[in-house]
Amino acid sequence: MKQEFAVIGLGRFGGSICTELSEEGMSVLAIDTDEEKVNEYKNIASHAVIADSTDETALKEIGIKNIDHVIVAIGENIQASILAAVILTDLGIKKITVKAQNDYHEKILNKIGVDQVVHPERDMGRRIAHHIISNNILDYLELSDDHSIVEVKVGKKMAGRSLTELDIRANYGCNVVAIKEGEEINVSPSAEDALNHEDILIVIGADKDISRFEKNLVIDDD
Ligand code: ATP
Repeated sequence: MKQEFAVIGLGRFGGSICTELSEEGMSVLAIDTDEEKVNEYKNIASHAVIADSTDETALKEIGIKNIDHVIVAIGENIQASILAAVILTDLGIKKITVKAQNDYHEKILNKIGVDQVVHPERDMGRRIAHHIISNNILDYLELSDDHSIVEVKVGKKMAGRSLTELDIRANYGCNVVAIKEGEEINVSPSAEDALNHEDILIVIGADKDISRFEKNLVIDDD
């Protein structure tokens, strides 16, 4: 059966989740206290309603209990976000994702027991910072507090050398899980083939190991 989503808070973040899910053909209930925002999403989401997510009765009336996954995208008003999270967990919503504004907010949300806490500004800031350090670092995805996945372009230091020769696992403690060659993704790359300039490596590891790997093999000196 098709999953039912609800997005509470139609700012830039909530709005783009709502639009993207709707474009993917999902059923989305868009909720905001602001009538203008609700009108903006009337033709995008399956339904759009004015409601205050800190009001339990209002949430029940709009049928929030029938929703499989609720995304709380209220930003500035941390109190409202926390209260909404408490109400939704009390109501037994199957999956709750909440946008955190800062680390304290995130801690409280984890304590309440929401399924997923997202920190889009912080994560995007980190990703952009890594790309700023080097054009060879294409993407950076945090897996936990101390492990990440990076997507790096094979630059001057790695081109023409094989994975065996570079021995990234022994030297840096990171694992190359796949190599993108143009449109192709090779998930069991040959250890003996020479890497081509512009190939993209997908590497997983502890942050401190990834950092050593980047400094020594990814960031070109000029
Ligand atoms: P973004 O960065 O995603 O634009 P933001 O972090 O600045 O958003 P806000 O603008 O504070 O977040 O909130 C996002 C939306 O949430 C706003 O449209 C606001 O009207 C709505 N909102 C705030 N409180 C509630 C609430 N209690 N119930 C429903 N919607 C709410």
